[in-house]
Amino acid sequence: MFKAFLIKYGEIGVKGKNKHLFEDALVRQIRYALSKVEGEFKVSKEQGRIYAEALSNFDYDEAVEAIKRVFGIIGICPVVQVEDNGFEDLANKVIEYVDAVYPDKNITFKVNARRARKDYPLESMEINREIGHILLERFPEMSVDVHNPELMLNIEVRQQINIYSTEIKGLGGMPVGTGGKAMLLLSGGIDSPVAGYMIAKRGVELEATYFHAPPYTSERAKQKVVDLARVVSKYAGPINLNVVNFTDIQLYIYEQCPHDELTIIMKRYMYKIAEHFAKQNGALGLVTGESIGQVSSQTMYSMQVINEVCTLPAYRPLIAFDKQDIIDIAEKIGTYEISIQPFEDCCTTFVAKHPVTKPNLNVIKRSESKLNEKIDELVKTAIETVEVIRVEG
Ligand code: ATP
Ligand code: MG
Repeated sequence: MFKAFLIKYGEIGVKGKNKHLFEDALVRQIRYALSKVEGEFKVSKEQGRIYAEALSNFDYDEAVEAIKRVFGIIGICPVVQVEDNGFEDLANKVIEYVDAVYPDKNITFKVNARRARKDYPLESMEINREIGHILLERFPEMSVDVHNPELMLNIEVRQQINIYSTEIKGLGGMPVGTGGKAMLLLSGGIDSPVAGYMIAKRGVELEATYFHAPPYTSERAKQKVVDLARVVSKYAGPINLNVVNFTDIQLYIYEQCPHDELTIIMKRYMYKIAEHFAKQNGALGLVTGESIGQVSSQTMYSMQVINEVCTLPAYRPLIAFDKQDIIDIAEKIGTYEISIQPFEDCCTTFVAKHPVTKPNLNVIKRSESKLNEKIDELVKTAIETVEVIRVEG
Protein backbone atom coordinates (compact mmCIF):
# COMPACT_ATOMS: atom_id res chain seq x y z
CA MET A 1 0.00 0.00 0.00
CA PHE A 2 2.66 2.51 1.04
CA LYS A 3 5.33 3.60 -1.38
CA ALA A 4 6.32 6.84 0.29
CA PHE A 5 7.03 8.38 3.65
CA LEU A 6 6.38 11.87 4.83
CA ILE A 7 9.19 12.88 7.17
CA LYS A 8 8.40 15.12 10.12
CA TYR A 9 11.14 17.00 11.86
CA GLY A 10 11.35 19.34 14.81
CA GLU A 11 11.63 22.94 13.79
CA ILE A 12 12.59 24.52 17.07
CA GLY A 13 15.82 26.42 16.68
CA VAL A 14 16.03 25.85 12.97
CA LYS A 15 14.57 29.00 11.59
CA GLY A 16 15.86 31.19 8.78
CA LYS A 17 19.09 30.25 7.08
CA ASN A 18 19.71 27.33 9.44
CA LYS A 19 16.52 25.71 8.32
CA HIS A 20 17.96 25.04 4.85
CA LEU A 21 21.15 23.58 6.28
CA PHE A 22 19.07 21.41 8.57
CA GLU A 23 16.80 20.18 5.78
CA ASP A 24 19.61 19.58 3.32
CA ALA A 25 21.54 17.58 5.91
CA LEU A 26 18.41 15.62 6.72
CA VAL A 27 17.82 14.79 3.04
CA ARG A 28 21.46 13.72 2.71
CA GLN A 29 21.29 11.48 5.78
CA ILE A 30 18.01 9.86 4.69
CA ARG A 31 19.56 9.15 1.29
CA TYR A 32 22.56 7.62 2.99
CA ALA A 33 20.38 5.46 5.25
CA LEU A 34 18.26 4.27 2.32
CA SER A 35 21.33 3.55 0.18
CA LYS A 36 21.82 0.49 2.42
CA VAL A 37 18.30 -0.76 1.68
CA GLU A 38 17.41 -2.78 -1.38
CA GLY A 39 15.36 -0.80 -3.85
CA GLU A 40 15.56 2.61 -5.45
CA PHE A 41 14.41 5.69 -3.58
CA LYS A 42 13.93 9.35 -4.21
CA VAL A 43 14.33 11.70 -1.27
CA SER A 44 13.14 15.20 -1.91
CA LYS A 45 12.27 18.45 -0.30
CA GLU A 46 9.05 19.99 -1.52
CA GLN A 47 7.30 23.01 -0.11
CA GLY A 48 8.76 22.62 3.33
CA ARG A 49 8.14 18.88 3.43
CA ILE A 50 10.58 16.02 3.09
CA TYR A 51 9.47 12.87 1.28
CA ALA A 52 11.17 9.54 0.82
CA GLU A 53 9.59 7.72 -2.04
CA ALA A 54 10.28 4.22 -3.39
CA LEU A 55 10.76 4.09 -7.16
CA SER A 56 10.99 0.31 -7.28
CA ASN A 57 9.98 -2.69 -5.19
CA PHE A 58 11.42 -2.36 -1.73
CA ASP A 59 11.40 -3.92 1.69
CA TYR A 60 9.03 -1.77 3.73
CA ASP A 61 10.27 -2.84 7.17
CA GLU A 62 13.89 -2.41 6.23
CA ALA A 63 13.22 1.05 4.81
CA VAL A 64 11.41 2.10 7.99
CA GLU A 65 14.24 0.75 10.15
CA ALA A 66 16.80 2.67 8.08
CA ILE A 67 14.90 5.97 8.22
CA LYS A 68 14.30 5.48 11.94
CA ARG A 69 18.05 5.68 12.51
CA VAL A 70 18.34 9.15 11.00
CA PHE A 71 18.79 11.85 13.62
CA GLY A 72 16.65 14.95 13.28
CA ILE A 73 13.43 13.09 12.48
CA ILE A 74 10.59 13.16 14.97
CA GLY A 75 8.05 11.18 12.97
CA ILE A 76 7.84 9.00 9.89
CA CYS A 77 4.41 8.89 8.27
CA PRO A 78 3.76 6.20 5.68
CA VAL A 79 1.79 8.15 3.10
CA VAL A 80 -0.32 7.43 0.04
CA GLN A 81 0.08 10.19 -2.53
CA VAL A 82 -2.66 10.63 -5.08
CA GLU A 83 -3.05 12.96 -8.02
CA ASP A 84 -5.82 15.52 -7.87
CA ASN A 85 -8.46 14.10 -10.21
CA GLY A 86 -11.41 15.75 -8.61
CA PHE A 87 -13.15 15.25 -5.31
CA GLU A 88 -15.00 12.07 -6.20
CA ASP A 89 -11.79 10.37 -7.13
CA LEU A 90 -10.23 11.52 -3.86
CA ALA A 91 -13.16 10.12 -1.90
CA ASN A 92 -12.71 6.75 -3.61
CA LYS A 93 -8.99 6.77 -2.85
CA VAL A 94 -9.70 7.54 0.80
CA ILE A 95 -12.17 4.66 1.00
CA GLU A 96 -9.57 2.34 -0.54
CA TYR A 97 -7.00 3.58 1.95
CA VAL A 98 -9.17 3.07 4.99
CA ASP A 99 -10.31 -0.32 3.76
CA ALA A 100 -6.75 -1.56 3.22
CA VAL A 101 -5.07 -0.09 6.30
CA TYR A 102 -7.90 -0.72 8.79
CA PRO A 103 -9.40 -4.16 8.18
CA ASP A 104 -11.31 -3.89 11.46
CA LYS A 105 -13.81 -1.10 10.91
CA ASN A 106 -14.99 -1.02 14.47
CA ILE A 107 -13.05 2.18 15.16
CA THR A 108 -13.58 5.82 15.86
CA PHE A 109 -12.15 8.36 13.44
CA LYS A 110 -11.72 11.98 12.62
CA VAL A 111 -10.88 13.56 9.28
CA ASN A 112 -8.19 16.20 9.48
CA ALA A 113 -7.95 17.92 6.12
CA ARG A 114 -5.51 20.66 5.31
CA ARG A 115 -5.75 22.67 2.15
CA ALA A 116 -2.30 24.06 1.40
CA ARG A 117 -3.44 25.08 -2.07
CA LYS A 118 -6.19 27.66 -2.12
CA ASP A 119 -7.39 26.85 -5.63
CA TYR A 120 -8.80 23.54 -4.46
CA PRO A 121 -12.60 23.84 -4.73
CA LEU A 122 -13.37 22.64 -1.20
CA GLU A 123 -12.19 24.26 2.01
CA SER A 124 -10.63 22.16 4.75
CA MET A 125 -13.81 22.09 6.82
CA GLU A 126 -15.83 21.01 3.80
CA ILE A 127 -13.39 18.20 3.03
CA ASN A 128 -13.66 17.03 6.64
CA ARG A 129 -17.40 16.99 6.53
CA GLU A 130 -17.79 15.41 3.10
CA ILE A 131 -15.19 12.68 3.59
CA GLY A 132 -16.53 11.97 7.08
CA HIS A 133 -19.98 11.58 5.66
CA ILE A 134 -18.83 9.30 2.83
CA LEU A 135 -16.86 7.08 5.21
CA LEU A 136 -19.80 6.70 7.58
CA GLU A 137 -21.98 5.72 4.69
CA ARG A 138 -19.52 3.24 3.26
CA PHE A 139 -18.43 1.73 6.62
CA PRO A 140 -21.37 1.96 9.03
CA GLU A 141 -19.35 0.29 11.85
CA MET A 142 -17.10 3.31 12.01
CA SER A 143 -18.00 6.27 14.20
CA VAL A 144 -16.74 9.80 14.61
CA ASP A 145 -14.82 10.97 17.66
CA VAL A 146 -13.36 14.44 17.23
CA HIS A 147 -11.55 14.46 20.59
CA ASN A 148 -9.84 11.08 20.86
CA PRO A 149 -10.13 9.27 17.54
CA GLU A 150 -8.44 5.92 17.05
CA LEU A 151 -7.91 6.83 13.42
CA MET A 152 -6.81 10.35 12.64
CA LEU A 153 -7.13 10.53 8.90
CA ASN A 154 -4.93 13.28 7.56
CA ILE A 155 -5.67 14.59 4.10
CA GLU A 156 -3.23 17.21 2.87
CA VAL A 157 -4.06 18.93 -0.35
CA ARG A 158 -0.86 20.11 -1.99
CA GLN A 159 0.19 19.71 -5.64
CA GLN A 160 -0.51 16.06 -4.93
CA ILE A 161 -2.78 14.92 -2.14
CA ASN A 162 -1.27 13.14 0.86
CA ILE A 163 -3.32 10.60 2.79
CA TYR A 164 -1.78 9.34 6.02
CA SER A 165 -2.86 8.24 9.45
CA THR A 166 0.09 6.78 11.33
CA GLU A 167 3.29 8.22 12.62
CA ILE A 168 6.29 6.11 13.56
CA LYS A 169 8.37 7.81 16.21
CA GLY A 170 11.84 9.04 15.18
CA LEU A 171 14.92 9.50 17.34
CA GLY A 172 14.85 13.29 17.38
CA GLY A 173 18.17 15.12 17.65
CA MET A 174 19.82 16.98 14.79
CA PRO A 175 20.87 15.65 11.36
CA VAL A 176 24.50 14.62 11.23
CA GLY A 177 26.49 17.23 9.38
CA THR A 178 24.92 20.25 11.04
CA GLY A 179 27.18 20.30 14.08
CA GLY A 180 30.77 20.01 12.96
CA LYS A 181 33.02 17.02 13.54
CA ALA A 182 34.42 15.34 16.66
CA MET A 183 37.05 12.71 17.37
CA LEU A 184 35.70 9.77 19.34
CA LEU A 185 38.12 7.75 21.46
CA LEU A 186 36.59 4.40 20.71
CA SER A 187 37.53 1.35 22.76
CA GLY A 188 35.89 -2.05 22.72
CA GLY A 189 33.93 -1.28 25.88
CA ILE A 190 30.31 -0.46 26.51
CA ASP A 191 30.66 3.26 27.09
CA SER A 192 32.50 4.89 24.22
CA PRO A 193 30.18 3.67 21.42
CA VAL A 194 27.24 5.09 23.38
CA ALA A 195 29.12 8.36 23.85
CA GLY A 196 29.72 8.54 20.09
CA TYR A 197 26.07 7.83 19.37
CA MET A 198 24.96 10.61 21.71
CA ILE A 199 27.25 13.23 20.23
CA ALA A 200 26.27 12.22 16.70
CA LYS A 201 22.66 12.62 17.74
CA ARG A 202 23.35 16.32 18.18
CA GLY A 203 24.28 16.56 14.51
CA VAL A 204 28.00 15.97 14.90
CA GLU A 205 29.93 13.96 12.35
CA LEU A 206 32.34 11.43 13.88
CA GLU A 207 35.83 10.27 13.32
CA ALA A 208 37.32 7.70 15.72
CA THR A 209 40.64 6.64 17.17
CA TYR A 210 41.35 3.23 18.68
CA PHE A 211 44.55 2.39 20.55
CA HIS A 212 45.58 -1.11 19.73
CA ALA A 213 48.36 -2.94 21.60
CA PRO A 214 49.30 -6.12 19.78
CA PRO A 215 50.10 -8.78 20.89
CA TYR A 216 48.60 -7.77 24.26
CA THR A 217 45.38 -7.07 22.44
CA SER A 218 44.38 -9.50 19.72
CA GLU A 219 43.19 -9.02 16.18
CA ARG A 220 39.76 -10.00 17.44
CA ALA A 221 39.80 -7.12 19.92
CA LYS A 222 40.49 -4.81 16.99
CA GLN A 223 37.75 -6.43 14.91
CA LYS A 224 35.36 -5.82 17.80
CA VAL A 225 36.13 -2.09 17.65
CA VAL A 226 35.57 -2.07 13.87
CA ASP A 227 32.24 -3.83 14.45
CA LEU A 228 31.26 -1.26 17.06
CA ALA A 229 32.21 1.59 14.74
CA ARG A 230 30.02 -0.03 12.08
CA VAL A 231 26.97 -0.06 14.36
CA VAL A 232 27.56 3.57 15.37
CA SER A 233 27.94 4.51 11.70
CA LYS A 234 24.45 3.19 10.97
CA TYR A 235 23.34 6.32 12.83
CA ALA A 236 26.30 8.65 12.42
CA GLY A 237 27.21 8.03 8.78
CA PRO A 238 30.63 6.85 7.57
CA ILE A 239 33.40 6.94 10.17
CA ASN A 240 37.14 7.02 9.55
CA LEU A 241 38.64 4.84 12.27
CA ASN A 242 42.29 5.55 13.10
CA VAL A 243 43.89 2.44 14.52
CA VAL A 244 47.01 3.46 16.41
CA ASN A 245 49.62 0.92 17.44
CA PHE A 246 50.12 1.82 21.07
CA THR A 247 52.25 -1.14 22.22
CA ASP A 248 55.67 0.48 22.32
CA ILE A 249 54.37 3.57 24.08
CA GLN A 250 52.61 1.46 26.65
CA LEU A 251 55.59 -0.79 27.29
CA TYR A 252 57.89 2.17 27.63
CA ILE A 253 55.62 3.92 30.13
CA TYR A 254 55.30 0.63 32.01
CA GLU A 255 59.08 0.39 32.16
CA GLN A 256 59.74 3.98 33.24
CA CYS A 257 56.87 5.16 35.39
CA PRO A 258 55.35 4.22 38.75
CA HIS A 259 52.72 1.60 38.15
CA ASP A 260 50.00 3.29 40.13
CA GLU A 261 50.25 6.20 37.65
CA LEU A 262 50.21 4.08 34.50
CA THR A 263 46.59 4.51 33.59
CA ILE A 264 46.76 8.27 33.95
CA ILE A 265 49.92 8.62 31.92
CA MET A 266 48.71 6.26 29.20
CA LYS A 267 45.46 8.15 28.97
CA ARG A 268 47.39 11.40 28.64
CA TYR A 269 49.23 9.95 25.66
CA MET A 270 46.00 8.64 24.17
CA TYR A 271 44.43 12.07 24.44
CA LYS A 272 47.54 13.70 22.97
CA ILE A 273 47.58 11.41 19.94
CA ALA A 274 43.83 11.54 19.42
CA GLU A 275 44.03 15.33 19.53
CA HIS A 276 46.71 15.27 16.87
CA PHE A 277 44.42 13.38 14.48
CA ALA A 278 41.48 15.54 15.51
CA LYS A 279 43.28 18.75 14.61
CA GLN A 280 44.70 17.27 11.44
CA ASN A 281 41.23 16.32 10.23
CA GLY A 282 39.20 19.29 11.33
CA ALA A 283 37.53 17.80 14.39
CA LEU A 284 36.54 20.38 16.98
CA GLY A 285 36.70 18.25 20.10
CA LEU A 286 37.40 14.82 21.57
CA VAL A 287 34.62 12.51 22.75
CA THR A 288 35.09 9.86 25.42
CA GLY A 289 32.90 7.43 27.33
CA GLU A 290 33.98 8.60 30.76
CA SER A 291 31.56 8.90 33.66
CA ILE A 292 32.44 10.35 37.05
CA GLY A 293 33.74 7.77 39.47
CA GLN A 294 33.25 4.73 37.24
CA VAL A 295 36.92 3.73 37.58
CA SER A 296 40.01 5.32 39.13
CA SER A 297 40.92 7.21 35.99
CA GLN A 298 37.45 8.72 35.84
CA THR A 299 37.45 10.71 39.05
CA MET A 300 37.23 14.46 38.58
CA TYR A 301 40.85 14.64 39.77
CA SER A 302 42.03 12.13 37.18
CA MET A 303 40.09 13.65 34.33
CA GLN A 304 41.50 17.07 35.10
CA VAL A 305 45.04 15.72 34.93
CA ILE A 306 44.34 13.73 31.76
CA ASN A 307 42.61 16.66 30.10
CA GLU A 308 45.58 18.91 30.74
CA VAL A 309 47.48 17.55 27.72
CA CYS A 310 45.10 18.92 25.16
CA THR A 311 43.63 22.23 24.13
CA LEU A 312 40.57 20.86 22.32
CA PRO A 313 37.55 20.39 24.56
CA ALA A 314 36.85 16.79 25.56
CA TYR A 315 33.14 16.04 25.44
CA ARG A 316 31.90 13.36 27.80
CA PRO A 317 28.21 12.88 27.20
CA LEU A 318 27.98 10.05 29.77
CA ILE A 319 29.60 12.04 32.55
CA ALA A 320 26.61 11.85 34.90
CA PHE A 321 25.15 8.53 33.76
CA ASP A 322 24.94 5.41 35.87
CA LYS A 323 26.25 2.26 34.24
CA GLN A 324 22.79 0.76 33.89
CA ASP A 325 21.53 3.81 32.03
CA ILE A 326 24.46 3.49 29.64
CA ILE A 327 23.76 -0.22 29.17
CA ASP A 328 20.12 0.55 28.38
CA ILE A 329 21.18 2.84 25.53
CA ALA A 330 23.82 0.36 24.33
CA GLU A 331 21.13 -2.31 24.09
CA LYS A 332 18.75 -0.01 22.30
CA ILE A 333 21.28 1.04 19.66
CA GLY A 334 22.70 -2.43 19.18
CA THR A 335 26.25 -2.09 20.52
CA TYR A 336 25.85 -3.94 23.80
CA GLU A 337 26.09 -7.49 22.42
CA ILE A 338 29.35 -6.61 20.67
CA SER A 339 30.81 -4.71 23.63
CA ILE A 340 30.40 -7.60 26.04
CA GLN A 341 32.36 -10.02 23.88
CA PRO A 342 35.27 -11.02 26.09
CA PHE A 343 38.28 -9.58 24.28
CA GLU A 344 40.84 -7.79 26.37
CA ASP A 345 41.42 -4.10 25.81
CA CYS A 346 44.78 -2.47 26.11
CA CYS A 347 44.09 -0.84 29.45
CA THR A 348 43.11 -4.04 31.20
CA THR A 349 46.47 -5.57 30.29
CA PHE A 350 48.43 -2.82 31.96
CA VAL A 351 46.33 -1.84 34.96
CA ALA A 352 47.95 -1.46 38.34
CA LYS A 353 46.51 -3.10 41.45
CA HIS A 354 46.05 0.21 43.24
CA PRO A 355 45.88 3.03 40.72
CA VAL A 356 45.91 6.59 41.99
CA THR A 357 42.49 8.18 42.21
CA LYS A 358 43.71 11.68 43.07
CA PRO A 359 46.72 12.16 40.83
CA ASN A 360 48.75 15.29 41.29
CA LEU A 361 49.66 17.00 38.04
CA ASN A 362 53.15 17.94 39.16
CA VAL A 363 53.89 14.41 40.30
CA ILE A 364 52.61 13.01 37.02
CA LYS A 365 54.68 15.49 35.04
CA ARG A 366 57.76 14.55 37.03
CA SER A 367 57.15 10.87 36.22
CA GLU A 368 56.66 11.71 32.57
CA SER A 369 59.96 13.58 32.48
CA LYS A 370 61.65 10.19 32.82
CA LEU A 371 60.29 9.32 29.42
CA ASN A 372 62.65 11.84 27.79
CA GLU A 373 62.88 12.35 24.06
CA LYS A 374 62.34 8.71 23.34
CA ILE A 375 58.62 9.05 24.00
CA ASP A 376 58.41 11.79 21.37
CA GLU A 377 59.95 9.41 18.86
CA LEU A 378 57.49 6.68 19.83
CA VAL A 379 54.55 9.07 19.53
CA LYS A 380 55.80 10.22 16.14
CA THR A 381 56.09 6.62 14.94
CA ALA A 382 52.64 5.75 16.28
CA ILE A 383 51.19 8.68 14.36
CA GLU A 384 53.07 7.85 11.18
CA THR A 385 52.06 4.18 11.20
CA VAL A 386 48.35 4.77 11.83
CA GLU A 387 46.01 2.51 9.92
CA VAL A 388 42.86 4.29 8.75
CA ILE A 389 39.81 2.11 8.20
CA ARG A 390 36.72 3.59 6.63
CA VAL A 391 33.69 2.12 8.29
CA GLU A 392 30.14 2.26 6.95
CA GLY A 393 27.07 0.80 8.57
P1 ATP B 1 34.64 2.01 27.59
O1 ATP B 1 33.48 1.22 28.09
O2 ATP B 1 34.29 3.02 26.57
O3 ATP B 1 35.81 1.16 27.21
P2 ATP B 1 35.63 2.27 30.21
O4 ATP B 1 34.59 2.45 31.23
O5 ATP B 1 36.24 0.94 30.01
O6 ATP B 1 35.10 2.85 28.84
P3 ATP B 1 38.27 3.43 30.42
O7 ATP B 1 38.94 2.19 29.98
O8 ATP B 1 38.73 4.11 31.65
O9 ATP B 1 36.73 3.32 30.60
O10 ATP B 1 38.34 4.46 29.24
C1 ATP B 1 37.73 5.71 29.33
C2 ATP B 1 37.54 6.24 27.93
O11 ATP B 1 38.82 6.35 27.30
C3 ATP B 1 36.76 5.29 27.05
O12 ATP B 1 35.37 5.50 27.18
C4 ATP B 1 37.25 5.65 25.69
O13 ATP B 1 36.63 6.84 25.23
C5 ATP B 1 38.73 5.95 25.94
N1 ATP B 1 39.55 4.73 25.73
C6 ATP B 1 39.92 3.81 26.63
N2 ATP B 1 40.65 2.83 26.05
C7 ATP B 1 40.76 3.16 24.75
C8 ATP B 1 41.40 2.56 23.61
N3 ATP B 1 42.06 1.42 23.68
N4 ATP B 1 41.29 3.19 22.43
C9 ATP B 1 40.58 4.35 22.31
N5 ATP B 1 39.97 4.94 23.33
C10 ATP B 1 40.06 4.37 24.55
MG1 MG C 1 37.24 0.27 28.41
